[in-house]
Order: sequence, then C-alpha cells, then structure tokens
Amino acid sequence: MEQKKVSVLGVPFDNKTKETFLEELMERVEHNQKSFVVTANPEIVMYAKRNPAYMSLITKADYIIADGIGIIKGSKILGTPIIERVAGYDLMLALLEEANRKGSRIYLLGAKEDVLQRTVAKVQTFYPSINLVGSRNGYFDLSDASIIESVQATQPDMVFVAIGYPRQEQWIQSYLATASKGLLMGVGGSFDVLSGKAKRAPKIFIQLNSEWLYRLIKQPLRLKRMMALPQFLREVKNEKKQVYKK
Ligand code: UDP
Repeated sequence: MEQKKVSVLGVPFDNKTKETFLEELMERVEHNQKSFVVTANPEIVMYAKRNPAYMSLITKADYIIADGIGIIKGSKILGTPIIERVAGYDLMLALLEEANRKGSRIYLLGAKEDVLQRTVAKVQTFYPSINLVGSRNGYFDLSDASIIESVQATQPDMVFVAIGYPRQEQWIQSYLATASKGLLMGVGGSFDVLSGKAKRAPKIFIQLNSEWLYRLIKQPLRLKRMMALPQFLREVKNEKKQVYKK
C-alpha cells in the first residue's frame, strides 16, 4: 500500500492524486475549514532544507503537493514513490473550475499590476460564475497588516497567492492566523501563465516530463535556479545512503 505521507529531504509530501486533493479541498471549503496548501518543487525543498524557519512554516501546512518531476524522481530514489506529480498551476485551474460550479468567493493576490489585470479578465471570461471578490498586485510589504485585513474583509473561500516563495507562504501563515475561513494556496508564477505573459510548455514537453527544458530554452536566465535540481538529486542520493548505513 502507498504511504500517505512521503518525506523528501525532510519535507512531508501528501501522496495523493490531483482528483483526491481536489475532492478533499472542496470538502474543506464547503465546511468553511481553513486550508494552507503548499506546492513544492526541488528548489523549494532545497530552500527549506537550508532555512529551518521556512521548513517549520511549510511543515505546518495542511497539504504539501509534489510540484515538479524532480520530487517524483527523488521519492523513487528513496524507495517511497509518490504516485503523481500535481502541478500547482493545474490544481489552481481545477479549483477555479469547481469554484465556478459553486459560485465560490475568490481573491487573486499577486504578480505585477498589468499581469494581474489580465488574469482577472481571464478568470471573468472563463469562469463567469465565480464571485471574484477582490484582487491586488503582489508588490507590497509583508509587514503591512492592512493587506491581510482588506482581503479578509471580502470573506474569500479561496485566495490564490502569486508572489513567489518564501514570501507567499509567510504571508499565508499570517493570514490564516487571524482568518476564520479560506483555502490559501501559494501559486508562484501562475498568474504570469494564466494571463498569457508566460507560456506553459507545449503538451509534448509536459508528457515527456521535460517542462523544465522548455522553460530553460525560453528563459536561459533560469539556469542558475535550475541548478537546484541536480543538487537536489545529489542530496536525495546522500540521504538514501545515510538510511542504509543506519
Ligand atoms: N511577485 C510579486 N511580488 C514580489 C515579487 C514577485 O507579486 O514582490 C510575483 C512575480 O510578478 C511573479 C511571481 O511573483 O508573478 C513569482 O513567480 P516565480 O515564477 O518567480 O515564482 P516562484 O517559483 O519563485 O515561487
């Protein structure tokens, strides 16, 4: 039987399919239960490993989702394979679809103003039954409590926070500390993709698990960030060796 939680370099991933995540999250939304959703890729795992405060923050999330084929590879190397890669972007779209069916209250927080406006327009066009209760660009000070208050005042069922890690998770934690309800999910650069500013890789790249390669071709400056992947795999292999020694 598969394990429910799979630890990869100390990050406890939830081992579930996209369908199961979606069902459970919608159930929680229906019951006005708070949910903190983290979508973590190898870069985020490496960052967490080096920053204990961030590690302890994300391990308190209700869900940690394996975003990125690197995490799946890592889990296989460790002998505890995660069943499915769930891209944060795909889960966000699936949640928006459900929100559209239910007429849920949605808040969009993050990205540059023009990207945000185009994202708002896309959501209004593709999900007309969503109750879009508010939106704000992602350029604000984390210590500015008025942002939290103004988002809470709109009583959103779901808040998508697209300001990049680690800030999005830090902000979500502060938000949920005083909120009475809401599914809060950090979605990184997802508004750039949804707005059309950044293109998602063509299907063939996704099917071949080579989305990273497409991104690298489009944005060679990402190379430095992507070096996190080989380093991540090296550390996973080291962890495996440690386990065998014990
Ligand atoms: N961003 C933001 N506020 C900031 C810095 C970044 O809203 O102070 C946005 C940025 O415009 C982009 C997203 O956050 O839309 C970060 O995307 P990235 O792909 O870098 O996400 P990461 O992988 O770092 O989580």
